[in-house]
Amino acid sequence: MEIVIFGAPGVGKGTQAKILSEKLDIPHISTGDILREAVSSKSELGLQVQEIMAKGELVPNDLMGKVIKERLYKLKDQNGFILDGYPRTIDQVYIFNQICKELNYDNVCLLEIQVPFEVIIERLTKRRLCAECNSIVNVDDSKDRTTCPKCGTKNSLIQRDDDSFDVVSNRLKIYKEITSPILDFYRENNCLKMITINGQQDLNKVNHDIMNELVKVCV
Ligand code: AMP
Repeated sequence: MEIVIFGAPGVGKGTQAKILSEKLDIPHISTGDILREAVSSKSELGLQVQEIMAKGELVPNDLMGKVIKERLYKLKDQNGFILDGYPRTIDQVYIFNQICKELNYDNVCLLEIQVPFEVIIERLTKRRLCAECNSIVNVDDSKDRTTCPKCGTKNSLIQRDDDSFDVVSNRLKIYKEITSPILDFYRENNCLKMITINGQQDLNKVNHDIMNELVKVCV
């Protein structure tokens, strides 16, 4: 099964993609995670994208094209994928279509998760990463806003550079202006199966709705 998980930053794509990856036994490819790993390992790619990511802007299409091609070709003998964070521009749609053609993926499903922007801003600006246990937590769940509610380590909660209010606002603006038109493109060209899910619900309910819809369209 080949799934593109789609939606604004902060709708829960990463969380749902991880659950689906386990349930359906297909690899999860997150372009954001690939780039963040490149930045933390200070690879050539990481050095090229570090500043762009910190501002919440989009990495150039040609560079992303190389990254995604390499990943998808490596996975060509597996039973599908769940792609999270790509495509994000119309040019990336063309690159992705070409890769799908070459690899004979003709049953790709686009799974859109929708959450209102004001809810996303609240979610992302309160999101913290625990440097000790690597959990993603909400700062409101910490008793003193610095102690990890999962592992109890003090002063371990850090905010990702791209989760600050200004950067989140920029990422949402880019999503609205550049990425969301992809949905109209796919609708008009009728080239993918499309599902829309309400992401403003309990995590398990969102997953339940996704599984129900996937069964209907992707068999
Ligand atoms: P994400 O975790 O998917 O929100 O991605 C984090 C950041 O990585 C984005 O704000 C972009 O700077 C960059 N990025 C990830 N995927 C792409 C993509 N398909 N095209 C351009 N930039 C991307």
